Amino acid sequence: MIFKIYQKSFKSQKKHKIYTAIDNTWGTPYYLKPIKLGFDMSIVSATKYYSGHSDVMGGSLAVNKRVFRKVQLADNVTGLRLGPDDAYLITRGLRTLDVRLDKHQDNAKKIAAFLSKYKNIKLLYPYKKNSQNFRMWKKYYSGSSGLMGLKIKSKNKKSVTKFVNSLKLFGYGYSWGGFESLALHQTNFEIGKRNYLKLGKDEHLVRLHIGLEDPKDIINDIKQALKHLK
Ligand SMILES: *Cc1c(COP(=O)(O)O)cnc(C)c1O
Repeated sequence: MIFKIYQKSFKSQKKHKIYTAIDNTWGTPYYLKPIKLGFDMSIVSATKYYSGHSDVMGGSLAVNKRVFRKVQLADNVTGLRLGPDDAYLITRGLRTLDVRLDKHQDNAKKIAAFLSKYKNIKLLYPYKKNSQNFRMWKKYYSGSSGLMGLKIKSKNKKSVTKFVNSLKLFGYGYSWGGFESLALHQTNFEIGKRNYLKLGKDEHLVRLHIGLEDPKDIINDIKQALKHLK
């Protein structure tokens, strides 16, 4: 949806002095090239896949020539700088970005295939043909990473919590993009106004980040935890 809006605006953005920015944290420049697509700015949280080990916080901003001077001025004025140790950890992580992402993708595809057997789970993972925005993803991205959402249908909210808490390989937390698998049970409050995540009656959202563990272990772990789902 975001792309549709921006694509139209690419044509008129020069005329109307509109600047466009995208958060490319999920795809990373390995799977999506926003500046080539016509965006002026591409923001990536380096806390996630760039560093890859969930042990540092940072971010990157890539810009085109049109906005470079403006961003440079803001950069000088704010004086915000990344600490050298943080920069070291992020550049060290970047060396393996491609191999890690390929493995996150391979693992996530296997988990997605496994999960699609469950009728009470709707998968939010654009690689899957029947998932929302598959066509948009296919058009722009060259791969998919390890993050997915599960819309779980259940009249028993406690059993959804039990499912998440019974996962043994998964940590519980937000800061995905590291080597470990993570799970997060999201409330309606956190979902906020994001339409594509809107939950229906008796629907619950669990977000998974599929890590670099052996996919068979991850599947077995999810399988045993799903037994608690009612
Ligand atoms: C986590 C996240 C951010 C924020 O990253 P921080 O480095 O933790 O501030 C921004 N965008 C997306 C899509 C994220 O997942």
